[in-house]
Amino acid sequence: MEKLQQLYEGKAKKVFETDDPTLLIVEYKDDATAFNGEKRGTIRGKGVINNQMSNRLMQRLSQQGIPTHYVRELSERETLVKRVSIVPLEVIVRNIAAGSFSKRYGVTEGTVFDEPTEEFSYKNDALGDPLMAPDHALAMKLCTRAEMDKIRSFALKVNEVLSDFWRSCGITLVDFKLEFGRLDDGEIILADEISPDTCRLWDSVTGKKLDKDRFRQDLGGVEDAYAEVMDRLLSQDEA
Ligand code: UDP
Repeated sequence: MEKLQQLYEGKAKKVFETDDPTLLIVEYKDDATAFNGEKRGTIRGKGVINNQMSNRLMQRLSQQGIPTHYVRELSERETLVKRVSIVPLEVIVRNIAAGSFSKRYGVTEGTVFDEPTEEFSYKNDALGDPLMAPDHALAMKLCTRAEMDKIRSFALKVNEVLSDFWRSCGITLVDFKLEFGRLDDGEIILADEISPDTCRLWDSVTGKKLDKDRFRQDLGGVEDAYAEVMDRLLSQDEA
């Protein structure tokens, strides 16, 4: 499968067309951004880790009945995926208070919820990806009510599958962001990536942050944290 014209370059990935109009190639970069692009940097080796981690997690999810865009890993940094039109919503699931939740509500980071929460942000860089009430997403026709119901139930299922898997790796899944897309026939599938860029992952015993918060908060050891999460995933995947 050959990379043809570049369609898009985002903060962490490039996307290319292929000779099959239904398939795209995603290439993961080492570039990191935070706070809506205000903070920029490089996390050496991140692209390789995020590519391989996301692919393994998506395969695990598809075995559990969640349709995903993953087709085949092509190289360390490149993956073949199904072409979708992205639903312009970031779907965030939280198990423990952190990040913008803690900030908005003044809640201590680490407060454990009785049940997971789901929220949406409008995927719009110019507006800074604002939090969006579900009714507003429907009013804006970002998706239909049936699509929203499906997205919400997929997101909760993803949380169950990934929380269990990360727990088996000695890691607590604090929160994460998903993106969904539509195939030509209208089917909703999971797209984008699942990685320490898009999840908060804490060591189950020490609480050490093993995700992009190390970059956001200048905690140091960013590369080591990504590598640590990947090592734990690989030893559990192979077990
Ligand atoms: N997240 C993401 N992309 C975004 C915003 C959030 O991947 O544009 C992830 C983030 O890494 C965390 C979860 O979604 O795992 C919840 O993020 P939050 O809303 O707390 O925002 P943040 O603190 O990252 O600004």
